[in-house]
Amino acid sequence: MRIPRAQAIRNLKFTLIRRRDALRSALAKDMDLLQEPRNNGVGNVVDIAIDVTQDDISSQLAEVESRELTNIETALERIRDGNYGNCEQCEEAIPLARLQTLPYVTLCIGCQRRKKRLATQASRLEVRWRRGRTLNISSTSKARLLQRV
Ligand SMILES: [Zn+2]
Repeated sequence: MRIPRAQAIRNLKFTLIRRRDALRSALAKDMDLLQEPRNNGVGNVVDIAIDVTQDDISSQLAEVESRELTNIETALERIRDGNYGNCEQCEEAIPLARLQTLPYVTLCIGCQRRKKRLATQASRLEVRWRRGRTLNISSTSKARLLQRV
């Protein structure tokens, strides 16, 4: 049986809220780890090295988690505002299957591909530009291209 779109979005909302809460507590734990006091000067070099690596991992993890948290919060905001599930670019409804796989997407597949293509083109131009090669493209159209990304 197919569930109506509004119902499916409500289900996604609960999934997002659960994920958000899990991330929040994971993030709080990471922060605790980072703030744990170190016994300065008493530990041996190996202890210190392990601490440093652990801090590094914790802060990288915290970064990934907080990025995901931001995405989730944006998605929840869009659900509240009633524009969740519509493409930010062309405003078409994003198919449910896509939302269920990637609950925080804000673009339909077509716009996503276009964006990726433009980003690739722009970064190729960037590379060519940095290498100082002659460009067949004026800097204004490059700027325009970068703006669309
Ligand atoms: Zn679109």
